[in-house]
Amino acid sequence: MANSVRHLYVHVPFCARRCSYCDFSIAVRSSVPVASYVEAIALEIVRHDTQRWDLDTIYLGGGTPSRLGAGVADVVKIVRDRASVAGDAEITIEANPDDVTPEDAAAWSEAGVNRVSLGAQSFDPAVLEWMHRTHSVPQVPAAVETLRAAGITNISLDLIFALPDSLSRDWSADLDRTLELEPEHISLYGLTIEPHTPLGRWRARGQVVEAPEERYETEFMMAHERLGAAGFEHYEVSNFGRPGRRSRHNSSYWTGEPYAALGPSAHSFDGNVRSWNVSAYADWERRLRSAESVVAESESLSEENRLSERVYLGLRTTDGLRATDAEIAVARPWVDAGWAEILNRTIVLTATGFLRLDALAASLTLAGSR
Ligand code: SF4
Repeated sequence: MANSVRHLYVHVPFCARRCSYCDFSIAVRSSVPVASYVEAIALEIVRHDTQRWDLDTIYLGGGTPSRLGAGVADVVKIVRDRASVAGDAEITIEANPDDVTPEDAAAWSEAGVNRVSLGAQSFDPAVLEWMHRTHSVPQVPAAVETLRAAGITNISLDLIFALPDSLSRDWSADLDRTLELEPEHISLYGLTIEPHTPLGRWRARGQVVEAPEERYETEFMMAHERLGAAGFEHYEVSNFGRPGRRSRHNSSYWTGEPYAALGPSAHSFDGNVRSWNVSAYADWERRLRSAESVVAESESLSEENRLSERVYLGLRTTDGLRATDAEIAVARPWVDAGWAEILNRTIVLTATGFLRLDALAASLTLAGSR
């Protein structure tokens, strides 16, 4: 279908409490207003030209989509009722281990959810407590088992690395525990301390100090080597997949494809213009019920934006950046330094190159703009 939209992101903002490092757009609720949220999604979707949606991926992110429980199935049904969804579509939800019950996992599977991104983060109880996570260590393997028993066999585990020295976190042991669970995909996040988070306040009071840069590098390279030896492809700077198990949804972001979006703070891209919704849940819901626009802002990509995105996104994955002669000339010294390879006129960063992604992308963009 010409000009079709093949990817949909749905933002589910609810969390039981805010994790110490989190600066995402969330709504902290001890009791989730599932029915109101689902109704609001139904009100938002009719504002879109869903005739053009020919979906290959649907991704419910958050927040914590699993907090909707069986309401996840209602959201997926609303989408299916309005849009064409491929028979083999990748339908992912993000889940916290403590939300995964046999009943909800069965409802998700029945609705067509076939991939779950599980927020494991660490297998050290003291670390989970420090992060203000709501789950316990044993709930991670239990959730994996429950999902598989429900027929959801494409499981990604999220892990956070580069934690403060004071936690004495054993990264190697956490990688071992992760591999024991035999996930299909693993996403890594290097901890950054944002000012408007509990962690930012702890740092301001001198109660916590960021991990030194060398440990960020050591842990990143340890993951690269250990997961690679276990059969994972380090296909994107923060993501590892077994062959054939790359995230199809996230890959659409990295290749610059258009995507639609629903939910508070959700961002969409039509190939030229990026738009994003108002972020506060109550505001988003009120606007939908009073027929006001929920779009907070939009911006057209300038030529300069396009140039830098092409470079930055291209270098993020092992598909690499199809390069001009001038770009190849800039990248030659990176090959000597072990940061990149040039294959068929395509610049592909190595793992040590991924560690320098921002600097390398900036120098390439600068050279291109001269
Ligand atoms: S569960 Fe995720 S979105 Fe919610 S507070 Fe924690 S890190 Fe943020």
